[in-house]
Amino acid sequence: MPPALTTPPIDRRPKRLEAMRDPVVATIGLGANLGEAPATVRAAIASIGALAQTQLLCASSLYRSAPIASSGPDYVNAVVQVRTALSAPALLAELQTIELAAGRERPYRNAPRTLDLDVLLYGHAQISSRTLTVPHPRMQQRAFVLLPLSEIAPELVSAEALQAVGDQLVHREIGI
Ligand code: AMP
Repeated sequence: MPPALTTPPIDRRPKRLEAMRDPVVATIGLGANLGEAPATVRAAIASIGALAQTQLLCASSLYRSAPIASSGPDYVNAVVQVRTALSAPALLAELQTIELAAGRERPYRNAPRTLDLDVLLYGHAQISSRTLTVPHPRMQQRAFVLLPLSEIAPELVSAEALQAVGDQLVHREIGI
């Protein structure tokens, strides 16, 4: 006799919606080296703070750095921390929308950019997917990340890490 056809039991438990996710502190790096870079970075910080389910916790000063593996004028950089209930991929998608709104084009790898936004840290998560690697794989080699990060979250940056990037030209800019 053929086995009886069974239907799986219906799961009536409430689904955990994206909006109900526990908030996480995420750290985001910003960089711009085309156009009005300081204004672009400031506007991007405001846009990040205005994201749904997201609260801006703190923002570093603006820094200037010489391009690394890139070209064009000096970069303006900053790092911010947010508390967000967005998932890491959803946060990345929102950041890419902000990049596009700032006129970002990707003609070739490491091209000069109007605005570059990176997810540096997402809580303590370790993520390795096709679109997202967190912690950001190059953050420990970049003074333009570590210096602003040490300003707002010194516990996340060791003296050894800062020393290792000490030869890179990065300046904190007052008043830009
Ligand atoms: P970039 O040209 O530096 O803005 O690189 C953007 C690409 O890097 C996107 O296609 C992302 O999917 C990918 N990516 C991987 N990990 C990260 C990350 N932690 N933050 C931002 N972009 C990332």
